[in-house]
Amino acid sequence: MNVLEQQLAHLVDECRPYTAQGKVADYIPELAHVQDDLLGVAICLPDGSYIHAGDVHHKFTIQSVSKALTLCYVLMEFGEDYVFSKVGMEPTGDAFNSIAKLEETVPSKPLNPMINAGALAVTSMILGDTAELKIYQFRQFLATLLDVPVEEVTYNEKVARSEYETTDLNRALLYFMRHHGIVEGDVDEIIDVYTKQCAIEIDCFDLARIGRILSGNGEDPVTGEELIPRRVVRIVKAIMTTCGMYDASGEFAVRVGLPGKSGVSGAILATGKHELGLSDVGFGIFGPALDSKGNSIAGMKLLELLVERYTSR
Ligand code: GLU
Repeated sequence: MNVLEQQLAHLVDECRPYTAQGKVADYIPELAHVQDDLLGVAICLPDGSYIHAGDVHHKFTIQSVSKALTLCYVLMEFGEDYVFSKVGMEPTGDAFNSIAKLEETVPSKPLNPMINAGALAVTSMILGDTAELKIYQFRQFLATLLDVPVEEVTYNEKVARSEYETTDLNRALLYFMRHHGIVEGDVDEIIDVYTKQCAIEIDCFDLARIGRILSGNGEDPVTGEELIPRRVVRIVKAIMTTCGMYDASGEFAVRVGLPGKSGVSGAILATGKHELGLSDVGFGIFGPALDSKGNSIAGMKLLELLVERYTSR
């Protein structure tokens, strides 16, 4: 263990008690079974190597972190003019699954791609004749980012099914948007793709590598190959900064100040930037106990302390 890893291990010990103040998400019944005091962090360094501490060997479902990645995918596939003709780029102060603003903005479009309405509109754009082909496209995109065969990018069928069977609110958002011509297609099929996209299993290293790719303008940190065009990275990081942490995005900007995206599984993806002296690194955090806004309570604290301590050097 090197000095940096020792410091990281101390930070995890310092932040783990915060898990007791949070609560594991249970609105998707299958998520409720997760142990609530877990906390792990991996950091992908500029050369693509990792340092890590805590419970990094647990797999978890990607949940809303997938929203940042489906956004990358559709921007690469269809271009920004088309994508932003269907979904906006303005933050909301509402909860991730809120239907309230939709009625105010319709018949134009959902406010941004990080709230459920916008993310569902993005998912409805994924190419493929069937739900299985669409989810394959997205798994393929993730496999390219993670540099693994597509067979290794799998989803947790129990979690996907559990959400598929209970997600009335997301169905309502889709029916509402379809009525107003914002999305097309079969609502159950879009829900099928969306719930599988959210149930893809990853770990802290995967998140950190994706964060590192975003911090390096879309390039593979090891080979230098362009995996995501620079312009797309810029857009996605901007939207992560303004909208990535639900209705706590402003607070996250103040406390941490990095582009980030969280998910209700307790995942946080964050990406370093030059101004902070944390240039070209990616962070992958897992801490399933959530605060009242749906963000990992100990994970947020961990990132805050990391930024505070490493930037004062
Ligand atoms: N699958 C979840 C939902 O739509 C994702 C929520 C999240 O991680 O914010 O409810």
